[in-house]
Amino acid sequence: MGRLIDQYIRSEEERERAEKVEALAGRFADRAGAHDLEGSFPFENFEDLRNAGYLKITVPKAFGGDELSLYEMVLLQERLAYGDGSTALAVGWHVGQVLHLRTSRKWPDSLFAQLCRDVVSDGAMINTFATEAATGSPTRGGRPETTAVRTDGGWLITGRKTFSTLSPILDRFVVSAYIPEEDRTAEFLVFASDRVTVAETWDTIGMRATGSHDVVLDGAFAAEDARITGKGTDDGGGWLLHIPACYIGIALAARDFVLKYAQTYRPNYLTGPIAELPWVEQSIGQIEVELRTARSLLYAAADRWDREPMERRPHLKPELGLAKYVATNNAIKVVDMAMRIAGGASLSRTFPLERYYRDVRAGLHNPPMDNMVLQALAADALSEN
Ligand SMILES: Cc1cc2nc3c(=O)[nH]c(=O)nc-3n(C[C@H](O)[C@H](O)[C@H](O)COP(=O)(O)OP(=O)(O)OC[C@H]3O[C@@H](n4cnc5c(N)ncnc54)[C@H](O)[C@@H]3O)c2cc1C
Repeated sequence: MGRLIDQYIRSEEERERAEKVEALAGRFADRAGAHDLEGSFPFENFEDLRNAGYLKITVPKAFGGDELSLYEMVLLQERLAYGDGSTALAVGWHVGQVLHLRTSRKWPDSLFAQLCRDVVSDGAMINTFATEAATGSPTRGGRPETTAVRTDGGWLITGRKTFSTLSPILDRFVVSAYIPEEDRTAEFLVFASDRVTVAETWDTIGMRATGSHDVVLDGAFAAEDARITGKGTDDGGGWLLHIPACYIGIALAARDFVLKYAQTYRPNYLTGPIAELPWVEQSIGQIEVELRTARSLLYAAADRWDREPMERRPHLKPELGLAKYVATNNAIKVVDMAMRIAGGASLSRTFPLERYYRDVRAGLHNPPMDNMVLQALAADALSEN
């Protein structure tokens, strides 16, 4: 029987890619404990990702990238998270957004071409900073308190963004800002400058190495053509599946850890390892139910999104949300059950389980949030009649 993690590999090409990423993930796993403890950003992991060509996996072939499909991206993101959830989530925003820009074409062509060239030649990365303390999640429709005001040749942007993942390493990012003179909100591509400061506020229980600090913009300049015009096609947001892929990857790591533990740990009053105890066997079975259900939904959703013509992709939103909902909630259950099996030792920092437990919790607060998914599913159901 092959390994569970390999179950969704479909071809030799995918296997080769997965093996490369597995080697990276192994290295990141060795570093994960220290970065988690210190809350430090794993710059060396990103250097490794850049050298391995990982940052360009979703860039179109025309610019020298690999142009991977959503399914292929999910496969690799899950594997990275198996080694280190923080690094996977952080780079997931980048590779996911490049995929999204490729399919939605929402950026002006010249801006996207420049980004792709810079990703391929210099390892540039991108993320969007849309959350603010006053608005909470941008998906709920709050108006940003960050403003964009016209100046010669562009815009001056002022405000403070929270949860800005990758902020220690990015040389450019997208921000949402309110334009008072037009009474509307738009997105702008902003480059790092002396008008942009990273305030090191990220000190959380989980995903501590994502560098999701506050970013403060004090009249940061965005050129005229750096305003994202709102053109492009709704692609249904399939790229967001990098999020469930990440949390499933963490849960898989917890599952594999506890399988080994249960098969080797034998208290001296037992005749065999704890894996032979009926309740442990039942719990392992339950872990398999949670994981296999979540993964089958995740990969089915990714595959379907890849196959659907562009105009039908927005209809997949409830399915994509369902995959995320089940993956994140099941991942939390899996890590919890793994810790119950391991017992008190699971609390020790010498084992990775307690980090998985803290990291996996963050999935609840990545989009789409549970109540939004339930709302979308309900709306879908109610629209039938
Ligand atoms: C590890 C991590 C990385 C992240 N990286 C990024 C990033 O790179 N860029 C970025 O922009 N953001 C990022 N985020 C932020 C994320 O997308 C959310 O904006 C953030 O977690 C706040 O979401 P929230 O739903 O808890 O907040 P809020 O919207 O403030 O909600 C707070 C609470 O109120 C409830 N609530 C609010 N409004 C409603 C409503 N209308 N109906 C029902 N309930 C409601 C929510 O359910 C929640 O329980 C990241 C978050 C995490 C955890």
